[in-house]
Amino acid sequence: MANNCIFCKIITGEIPASKIYEDNDFFVMLDINPVNRGHSLVIPKTHFANIFDAPEEITAKIGPMIKKMAQAIKTGVNADGLNVVINNDQAAGQVVFHAHVHLIPRFEGDGFTHWHGKGGETPADFEETKTRIISEL
Ligand code: AMP
Ligand code: ZN
Repeated sequence: MANNCIFCKIITGEIPASKIYEDNDFFVMLDINPVNRGHSLVIPKTHFANIFDAPEEITAKIGPMIKKMAQAIKTGVNADGLNVVINNDQAAGQVVFHAHVHLIPRFEGDGFTHWHGKGGETPADFEETKTRIISEL
């Protein structure tokens, strides 16, 4: 539990939420400002900011949890598709600094578009980028 963390307060019950699932490791609730009906957040109960400081134990467990919840949400709201999104750090749009995964049901013709590629990368650019990332693995 971190001081003044809204998601920690929701997990402990101090602040109410539309909970849809809870186990030892995760708390899942409807987003208060949904992109579409059924927009949910999968929240690890342990407080950490985002993917960059995620404990191995949680990263190992989150895949099956996302799959389970995505299936229930898609069927539950009769969606046509579903986006899985994690915003990591301010530059990527993160606002709440307690890690969470957005599960966003999508409906044909719902009007949302994805970001568009900027293009313009040369083969040398791709080569350099690839090398830089591989060197960090
Ligand atoms: P982000 O940090 O940008 O990935 O998004 C934070 C998300 O948390 C937003 O989609 C908010 O609508 C959602 N949110 C913030 N406060 C609450 C709350 N009290 N209950 C449910 N969802 C919340
Ligand atoms: Zn927290």
